[in-house]
Amino acid sequence: MEKKYYIETYGCQMNVHDSEKLAGILSKLGYEASPNEHNADLVLLNTCSVREKAAQKVFTRLGQLKKLKTGKPGMAIGVCGCLAQQEKDLFFKGRPYVDLVFGPKNISELPALLEELQRERKQLLALSGPRQEPTFEVDTVMRDVPYKAYITIMEGCDKFCSFCVVPFLRGREISRDPHSIMEEARRLADLGYVEICLLGQNVNSYRHENFDFAELLMSLHEIPDIRRLRYTSPHPTDINQKVMDLYGSLPKLCNNLHLPLQAGSNEVLRRMKRDYSREDYLQKVEYIRKRCPEIALSSDIIVGFPGETRDDFDATMDVVRQVEYSGVFSFKYSQRPFTSALKLEDDVSEEEKGDRLAVLQETQREIQVRLNQAKIGTTQEVLVENHSRKDAEMLMGRTTCNRSVNFEGSAELLGKFVQVYITSAGPNSLVGERWPSGRH
Ligand code: SAM
Ligand code: SF4
Repeated sequence: MEKKYYIETYGCQMNVHDSEKLAGILSKLGYEASPNEHNADLVLLNTCSVREKAAQKVFTRLGQLKKLKTGKPGMAIGVCGCLAQQEKDLFFKGRPYVDLVFGPKNISELPALLEELQRERKQLLALSGPRQEPTFEVDTVMRDVPYKAYITIMEGCDKFCSFCVVPFLRGREISRDPHSIMEEARRLADLGYVEICLLGQNVNSYRHENFDFAELLMSLHEIPDIRRLRYTSPHPTDINQKVMDLYGSLPKLCNNLHLPLQAGSNEVLRRMKRDYSREDYLQKVEYIRKRCPEIALSSDIIVGFPGETRDDFDATMDVVRQVEYSGVFSFKYSQRPFTSALKLEDDVSEEEKGDRLAVLQETQREIQVRLNQAKIGTTQEVLVENHSRKDAEMLMGRTTCNRSVNFEGSAELLGKFVQVYITSAGPNSLVGERWPSGRH
């Protein structure tokens, strides 16, 4: 009987894609996917350490898996991703039920680790140094949606923002050879993928010798069967003139840009070591919006960074209202190991952080409702990705702005571009009808 695996993914898209690579490796080894941990012979937690809450969740989950393993001693438990790299062999301390711990750059070592585990049942650790080449690609990647694909183009980060643990865990920036990126993209196009999302912790600081991010986008744009290009997560400083000028001139470059603001107060930005000011940020927004008026901008925002006053927070809210983001990932600041912000006193109370987060989220919700309702009565082109999560009779597709649209339709539309007439809208999605109506 085939062995079964179950992977649970925490955190960012980089981790989601790493899990796709892990699933590919395991399927090549003859493992089958299990929908949950109960029937699995191997459970992998692909972890995140960016915020304390994400890290805590992993420890809680391990407690549950320990109980499961008591009744299934043959089951193997592995922990990988950023928290594994952070905790190293400390993960094993008091946890004899954890079999494997490996870092984000050690994914390709999984077959060897499993073989060793089979030979002698002992706890195995595989971690990399900050300059080790990451696993950009593996032979088989198990992608969820057969029409849109992530491609890793760079790993690591050299920015060292004062709140962020990523450079300490994912290591220094390493950009992938463009030939290998182009090859992967062409292969995906041949397999029928029509949308590509380029991934990197600091994606637009991509540079391989003299070949930069804008040039990479232009080269990918030339692949005939790739119809949409996206990327995440860029840093506002590295959105340079060359990249900004691609908006409105590269038709396949999607009308959405995730541009993490973090804070709207110059004083807080300085303490965060973000190396741009509120004015720099807003100027870039204005320039891009002029070139591409339809663009949907989204953002990451941290509230309650050390020393953030009520006025600083109001400055953030002011940018939020001015820019009118299509979506915001908002977080309460939490102290992370190794980071330079640890030297600052975490002086905004939990209660105040919670209040600020609630104000931000409520305002953002109102903005999203307004922006989405403005789409009612328009016709949008969507790439049909899946059946709707809430209603199996409905399909879900995404616009170039990355808005999700639910509409009635049959499975043969999956993977196709269709026009949808928008009839209603909520804060997180649009609803519509296939246009012209009457088609399946
Ligand atoms: N590279 C991206 C950038 O430059 O904005 C961000 C990547 S980071 C992994 C994802 C988001 O987590 C950040 O944009 C930030 O908003 C949030 N984050 C990181 N460290 C945090 C911390 N210590 N407390 C709260 N949020 C944090
Ligand atoms: Fe973290 Fe800053 Fe690098 Fe983004 S740019 S991954 S926030 S250090």
